[in-house]
Amino acid sequence: MQDPAKHLSKTLKAIRKDRGWSLDAAAAATGVSKAMLGQIERGESSPTTATLWKLATGFQVSVTSLMEPLPPGAEKTLIRDAEALRHLPGDSGMAVAPLFPFEPRFGFEYMELTFHPGYKRLSEPHEVGVVEYITVISGEMEIFTDDNWQPLKTGMSIRFRGDAPHGYRNRGDEKAVVMTIIHYPTRR
Ligand code: MN
Repeated sequence: MQDPAKHLSKTLKAIRKDRGWSLDAAAAATGVSKAMLGQIERGESSPTTATLWKLATGFQVSVTSLMEPLPPGAEKTLIRDAEALRHLPGDSGMAVAPLFPFEPRFGFEYMELTFHPGYKRLSEPHEVGVVEYITVISGEMEIFTDDNWQPLKTGMSIRFRGDAPHGYRNRGDEKAVVMTIIHYPTRR
């Protein structure tokens, strides 16, 4: 597997060039400082999950496309091991295993997420039409949607709008592990 920091620096530079954005414009769109953007593009800093998600939302790309290159075509069987893919960027309390990264023809990404005790993240709305699906496979967690924190025990699933304010938190003493699909209906 390619070094994630190298992939991110290359991908971010390419997307920013493609948009024709200066570092200032990219900072305004993502809420990530110009200094931090420069460091990431030079491969000098590996961002936290929160920063990674800000970048994805600001540039309107899937978060997994910032983590890994596209997998081989759908005609090939793909076997993935979350254990080997679980990245824990920076000081974040959340680990992401990009099991099936976003592919434009499918329109979704499929990940395993681990939320450590005490972790909380509120997300800016993603682009219009994005829907998130979560199934809790161990521990308990809560999802903020419709102005409420919805408690989810092991075995429970939720579907909610990703294009409205939403959040994730684990108030328990154990880590919570979830499988998630994020569907991007309009992305090319
Ligand atoms: Mn989200």
